Amino acid sequence: MSTWTDLESRYYMQVARRQPLVLVRGSGSRVWDENDKEYLDFTAGWAVNTLGHCHPALVEAVTEQARTLIQTSNQFFTVPQVKLAQLLVENSCLDRVFFSNSGAEANEGAVKLARKYGKLNRNGAYQVITALNSFHGRTLTMAAATGQPHYQEQWQPLSPGFVNVPYDAIDAIREATTDETCAVMVEPIQGEGGVIVPSPDYLAQVREWCDRHNLVMILDEVQTGIGRLGTLFGYEQFGVEPDAITLAKGLGGGVPIGAFLAKEKFCVLAPGDHGSTYGGNVLTTAGAFGVVDHVIKNNVPAHAADMGRRLMDGLNGLMSRHAAIDQVRGMGLLVAVQFTGDISGQVVSMSNDEGLLLNPVRPNAIRIMPPLTLSAEEVDEGVAKLDRAITRATAD
Ligand SMILES: *Cc1c(COP(=O)(O)O)cnc(C)c1O
Repeated sequence: MSTWTDLESRYYMQVARRQPLVLVRGSGSRVWDENDKEYLDFTAGWAVNTLGHCHPALVEAVTEQARTLIQTSNQFFTVPQVKLAQLLVENSCLDRVFFSNSGAEANEGAVKLARKYGKLNRNGAYQVITALNSFHGRTLTMAAATGQPHYQEQWQPLSPGFVNVPYDAIDAIREATTDETCAVMVEPIQGEGGVIVPSPDYLAQVREWCDRHNLVMILDEVQTGIGRLGTLFGYEQFGVEPDAITLAKGLGGGVPIGAFLAKEKFCVLAPGDHGSTYGGNVLTTAGAFGVVDHVIKNNVPAHAADMGRRLMDGLNGLMSRHAAIDQVRGMGLLVAVQFTGDISGQVVSMSNDEGLLLNPVRPNAIRIMPPLTLSAEEVDEGVAKLDRAITRATAD
């Protein structure tokens, strides 16, 4: 038992299910604990460390900015905020951006935009259709959007105006649409829900339905955005252009920032309608610019796609040797391994021991979301460590 885990149990709100590891430093795809044990990190801060740990593009951008100017409020213009806005808009199908501090806040902003659009253009419509098994964040309003009882039941009453329907089922969206509907918000791939990949035409069907009924199509790309699926944005994989997207996790590569972007037609928010003290802060936008600029200039998404294929091949190889593996699924570097039983806790514990960090996304599934910059050798090393971890977890 570490002094730090003892102190945490005494002083911190006991809300996190943590692995018994105190991490103290990181570099590239690796982190070290307080005993200097090394781990290959296939969690990447929950799909956040786009360029791995302490990448110079992020460290230098933040360090330089910290020496220059850290916070101003949005009462003034700042250069990094404008540069990041231009970079995201010019590399996406969207026309304008607003920066927030987290994914949940980005989604809240997108929903406000959709509600105002509905008020102005759809006779006051306000309802947002979201998916069961989704994850949109933990504010009270995003708990209502998140179609999972675990995130909702204890916090009643939740914000009204959300309808949760089955994912990857266009008929469910059609049936749920009424005169009160203003938007549909879904993830291109459900991440926290266990890496659920929809059928290839689902998002195109949502696109068509939203066009037909003048609904705002919002894609929650908080987890899939910035290269994770093998393209800069997840929507590119599905051949659709959404009306709005939200970003967070990979956008800052480690600094806390979120964003929502929308096409011009949907940019109905006016001065005073929305805002944030820290949102678009100089330090975090400078860091995020460093990350996204590096991602684009070095075509990191293409590397992620290559490494994703290699990872998938390796995991499929494991599946042929471990009866305990039921399914391997995902896209790019967002992947899940599902087991035939509820053994993800044991697998993660054994992989900690082997020096590989994994996320037990479901009792019967682990999620793999490494830095997008990991090497082919690191993919192979991770697969070999997972192989040993599964062997040990299933031996008795
Ligand atoms: C993580 C996540 C969120 C919430 O982001 P926070 O920064 O934790 O508020 C929202 N949507 C998706 C798809 C996510 O993966």
